[in-house]
Amino acid sequence: MEVHAQVTSSAKLFSGASTEFGGEPNSHVSLVDAAMPGMLPVINEQCIRQAIRTGLGLKAKINHRSVFDRKNYFYPDLPQGYQISQYKSPIVGEGEVVIDIEDNKTTTIGIERLHLEQDAGKLLHDQHPSMSYVDLNRCGVALMEIVSKPDLRSFDDAMNFMFKIRQIVRYLGTCDGDMEKGSLRADVNVSVHKLGTPFGTRCEIKNVNSINFIGMAIEHEKMRQIEILEEGGKIEQQTRLFDPDKLETRSMRNKEEAHDYRYFPDPDLLPLEITQAQIDEIMSQQPELPDEKRARFVADYGIPYITAHRLIFERETADYFEAVAKGRDAKGAANWVINELTGRLNKEGKDISGTPVSAAQLGAVLDLIAEGLISGKIAKDLFEIVWSEGGDPRAIVEQRGMKQVTDMAAIEKVVDEIVAGNPDKVADLKTNPKALGWFVGQAMKASGGKANPQSVNDLLKKKLGL
Ligand code: MN
Repeated sequence: MEVHAQVTSSAKLFSGASTEFGGEPNSHVSLVDAAMPGMLPVINEQCIRQAIRTGLGLKAKINHRSVFDRKNYFYPDLPQGYQISQYKSPIVGEGEVVIDIEDNKTTTIGIERLHLEQDAGKLLHDQHPSMSYVDLNRCGVALMEIVSKPDLRSFDDAMNFMFKIRQIVRYLGTCDGDMEKGSLRADVNVSVHKLGTPFGTRCEIKNVNSINFIGMAIEHEKMRQIEILEEGGKIEQQTRLFDPDKLETRSMRNKEEAHDYRYFPDPDLLPLEITQAQIDEIMSQQPELPDEKRARFVADYGIPYITAHRLIFERETADYFEAVAKGRDAKGAANWVINELTGRLNKEGKDISGTPVSAAQLGAVLDLIAEGLISGKIAKDLFEIVWSEGGDPRAIVEQRGMKQVTDMAAIEKVVDEIVAGNPDKVADLKTNPKALGWFVGQAMKASGGKANPQSVNDLLKKKLGL
């Protein structure tokens, strides 16, 4: 796979123009991006740092010397007539990514390289009956191209690989990973072969922009190739496009001789030299990455692997969990974050950054449960109130009389009434001990959910001689 990831940076790779998404067409275009005669590219240091961060996140070798090359090609939306990219000497060399293949199981995928290059602009073909327009806002924006080794064996592997790359760049803050906006997209090379024989001829599916589409494109391309081979045909090396509506890949162009781009070092740019001290400085500021975080959560909080795995999907969720879990029952905190909070966020199509219930507020709800002041059921009601109205959970419990009734005399009165009013159920209980649940339910209901379920249970057992 070749993954193109747009570098998070406010300016482009070789110019100071803005990288903001969604501006008026051609409003973020400098003279360099428009390739006016005599303009010279100036490298953006932030983009270099981002590439190094990503390389370190991929456990890869950072090259002390790399070179920018011109890849000559006619792009109507790249006025230079060539793309500045890196060919023989990329900034990042070999690395590896550990992907999760099923619960508890992982496999390692090799990284061949990561290089920096310019993105192209965008052609607009549907705005005028006889003309095409060009929007150069994206022209010159920095991309990281991450190339894997041919280690992926199935569409599952490919999807898990993309998931992990996205997770890592988002943890690092080097790419926003927004596949819908095209900030992260993949070219997928697919070939089939019989076990024990060399790899077959590959076809490249260009610009697949969702993790699900990657899986679908590979499945359909695989079936297409198998069909051709089983009918005695040959696979032609091609560039293809995946059409998610028709669920098929179709040919874009037959592959020109590989590397027909007349690459040569860009004479306007000196080789890029990076010292070990610069790499060390960046390394010292790297955040904890998903795999390490998951291992630490299991060790520090005693939560199951699969729970930790779900908590680390997004860095913000992991941070939120830690803020809630600190000094509290970590398993309870994990349950609340995964089930109540995430469930509620999904329901409203929000992500964790838009949560109306802060970690401090959820922590206060958990404290109230731990102190026996509210039951788990009331806690859910309280969570709802905090979600929609905000406020201090402890104060809400006081003001709205939500405190659990721990007064045994009050509970006893309720229990006595229920036992006296339902002799048939009491008789039933002799042969069917599970019927106790009905009594607990009735008592909880009669108390408005405020009785302590454990006390009700104990009391009922005593009263009924169980
Ligand atoms: Mn590329």
